[in-house]
Amino acid sequence: MATATHCPYCSLQCGMTLTRQGRSLEVDARAMPANPHSPITEGALCRKGWTAAGLRGHRERITTPMLRDRDVGGWRAASWDEALDLIADRLRALREAHGPDTNAVFGGGGLTTEKAYQLGKFTRVALGSSQIDYNGRWCMSSAATAGNRAFGLDRGLPFPLADIEGTDVLVLVGSNLAETMPPAARHLDRLRERGGRVVVIDPRHTATAERADLAIQPVPGTDLALALGVLHLLDARGAVAEEYVAARTTGWDDVRASVAGWWPERVERVTGVEATVLRELADLLAGADRAMILTARGAEQQRQGTATVLAWINVALALGLPGKEYAGYGCLTGQGNGQGGREHGQKADQLPGYRMIEDPAARAHVAGVWGVDPDSLPGKGRSAYELLDALGTRSEDGDGPRSLLVFGSNIVVSAPRAEHVTERLEALDLLVVCDLVMSETAALADVVLPVTQWAEESGTMTNLEGRVILRERAITPPEGVRSDLDVIAGLATRLGAPSTWSTEPEEIFTELRAASAGGLADYSGITYDRIRAEDGVFWPCPDTGAEAHPGTPRLFGERFAHPDGRARFKTVEYVGPAEEPSADYPVHLTTGRVLGQYQSGAQTRRIKELPDDGPFVELHPLLADRIGAVDGEALIVTTRRGTMRAPARVVRTIRPDTVFVPFHWVGANRLTNDALDPSSRMPEFKVCAARVELAVEVAAPAPAQPVGATR
Ligand code: SF4
Repeated sequence: MATATHCPYCSLQCGMTLTRQGRSLEVDARAMPANPHSPITEGALCRKGWTAAGLRGHRERITTPMLRDRDVGGWRAASWDEALDLIADRLRALREAHGPDTNAVFGGGGLTTEKAYQLGKFTRVALGSSQIDYNGRWCMSSAATAGNRAFGLDRGLPFPLADIEGTDVLVLVGSNLAETMPPAARHLDRLRERGGRVVVIDPRHTATAERADLAIQPVPGTDLALALGVLHLLDARGAVAEEYVAARTTGWDDVRASVAGWWPERVERVTGVEATVLRELADLLAGADRAMILTARGAEQQRQGTATVLAWINVALALGLPGKEYAGYGCLTGQGNGQGGREHGQKADQLPGYRMIEDPAARAHVAGVWGVDPDSLPGKGRSAYELLDALGTRSEDGDGPRSLLVFGSNIVVSAPRAEHVTERLEALDLLVVCDLVMSETAALADVVLPVTQWAEESGTMTNLEGRVILRERAITPPEGVRSDLDVIAGLATRLGAPSTWSTEPEEIFTELRAASAGGLADYSGITYDRIRAEDGVFWPCPDTGAEAHPGTPRLFGERFAHPDGRARFKTVEYVGPAEEPSADYPVHLTTGRVLGQYQSGAQTRRIKELPDDGPFVELHPLLADRIGAVDGEALIVTTRRGTMRAPARVVRTIRPDTVFVPFHWVGANRLTNDALDPSSRMPEFKVCAARVELAVEVAAPAPAQPVGATR
């Protein structure tokens, strides 16, 4: 029997059909006729989607709980009851000895919304702890913070992705969607066939830049200065939409004054982008009736990520774009459920429905749904990196958490300053990891719990457009494997937690609908049946009784989400990256993704049909000449935090002052900087200062091989 579902990986959430063929599972692309205008309906998948069933029956799949004996070393299999009893006993003992915040939870942007919701509830109700955050904090939290400030609402795209095709000028800032979500690139092609223009801003001339009419390669970490310069020129050209600005926004006068000094030659000195190119970009935007500006990780994963996004939103507002048809500002989310994961309580400062945890009315509403006293709910916890940085610490100001439960995240590979984070994990009294395979993080755990993967369970996801879609169970999980929802319920019951702890996704979604009702991310009018019938429903979608709310594909047409209905211009200042090149670290390092791998690679590195050549160091021939390297030669990259070894990949498509390393393998994040954005707490993954040398001239560090992988 064929099951209609969606890809397990990125935020596009392409539709696919899974069919059982004996013991194997066949993947097919799926057109979804109920929703013909959806970008996820056209029957396209990238190679990751086509090969997604490769983990089914994989020999590294864990099918029994595993306990590690730290003193003796090695693992032994355990029953589920033994493993859950042990975890619950130790969580209880730690709490009694050190207080509720000694137990912490770390989630993931790939978890279904039901799991994210249950994790938030479990942490606050069963553990009584404020210490929960998730790896989505490292994905688009800067765009989320900026969206909340400027528009009063954070939804990655405020319009369907296919609207791209109808715009006149599309500016992509720090996005390589042709490689990260290839089916989305066809919208760029159609836009250009219509005569529209594409601008790509990226230090690398990527596969996406190949599709651009104008490709701009700024110095990493200077996108903010570029935006200030664009707005300066737009104002000088009289291109500001004065009527729109007066009627629909506040704060323009201050922003106008703040960009007055960002003349093109100053921007050129900071960004390395020639003044003539900046003028070309401003001319394109000034001459367009409709334009779209989309940011992604390149612009957002910076110490000034929030300010950078706000600067580009200022450009969009000045041109009168947000709320206009086929125009506006949006963020291209990365992880499969990066959007839904942060709407319903997995984030340190949020409760379901995108409610803020320190808002008394929000606490009362959610506590009412959960059947607990609002005063029993803890307050705001630490952000993702700050949580990891505090693990196992002891200080006069208070100790950090002594236990961590990890769901859907491979921290050892994906966290910035990864060696330090690994040390913090090793300092814990108890580390529990739920995963499919013995990931690099699971390999450090005291208890590993084997959990279901996407085709073995149902649940909702919210894709990059704010479209709530349904992943359907297609196959029976291997014997011995349980859902994360079973783990949460099993522990909550053992801990004697109040409230109810269903393990059925649809029942949990029904509770989530009630918890979200009246919030910014209102899902109360969405049901599994509606999602199936309509191939997805856009939030906000309140429950309006017999006359069903249609969902909200496009936002901000009439008003923004601030109480006065107006968007906010926000004045921002360029400070620059936390590290500039120096004599010891003379080049910029930036990190990113490759076509055939996804996130930390825990899944995709184990799929034999996907290329797994390991990490590489991409550098320009001029830099290669300077250090005497040839293509394929082993290099050592060093930053103030760590070092890694990988072969050179010499290309003309990167700036000569910059090197690039993909982060799907252990290595890249040993190097990255843990400097945090002051508002979003996003680490500066995208830029730091580095030194590149021939490996033969340096005492070799450990090769950048995955710890737990066998390939
Ligand atoms: Fe899956 Fe993303 Fe590829 Fe679509 S683009 S098939 S959602 S990885």
